[in-house]
Amino acid sequence: MKILAISDEVVDLLYSARLRQNFGHVDLVLGCGDLPFYYLEYIVTALDVPLYYVPGNHDRLEQYLSDGRIIHQAEGCEALDGRAVDAARQIGARLRSTGQAASGSPALLVAGLGGSMRYNAEGIHQYTEAEMWVRAARLAPSLLRNRLRYGRFLDILVTHAPPRGIHDDTDPAHIGFQVFRTLMDVFRPRLLLHGHAHVYRSDTVTRTRYKDTQVINVYPYRLIEWDGADHD
Ligand SMILES: [Zn+2]
Repeated sequence: MKILAISDEVVDLLYSARLRQNFGHVDLVLGCGDLPFYYLEYIVTALDVPLYYVPGNHDRLEQYLSDGRIIHQAEGCEALDGRAVDAARQIGARLRSTGQAASGSPALLVAGLGGSMRYNAEGIHQYTEAEMWVRAARLAPSLLRNRLRYGRFLDILVTHAPPRGIHDDTDPAHIGFQVFRTLMDVFRPRLLLHGHAHVYRSDTVTRTRYKDTQVINVYPYRLIEWDGADHD
């Protein structure tokens, strides 16, 4: 299975007619935040695969369309913030609707926690460490259910901000969350995909192993091979 992960920046290669040509083989898209709804909608329409996304600290609660409508969610996409889902269900439903076989596809357990560390009083999608702990704790019952049903808690954690000390920075807006490390300690996802940390130098580290988890900064996009057991 191929996963296209995106974050933080509208990339010309993706926001163009070349998208289908270059990424037509993708099965799932995961958005790691700070992306305009029109971009998410373009990608979900062009690729016609499930797209789950979390908000970044620059995303507003509503966005305006050129026809004057106000939308609170990218149409055709699934908001993943504070949720845990089995993405394989949606992928399977799509394959069945297009006549492709999809019986017995294994679960793909995905959960999302958007937003960044709080750095100003009025900002939305900003959280203190304690607030993010509460949001993370609310995911726990779903993850425990996953464990009972599938034998594991979580496959992929989708965030906007990085974990503390991994791909993060020291300024208040870009410091990572300690609780994301705790989530990896306890729930052992195979992947943690994040954005928020813009990459300007070719020698910047964007992939770090932490216990059972590959932490990947997907900025501005990353194609990921998912084989259910390990990944590239
Ligand atoms: Zn950000």
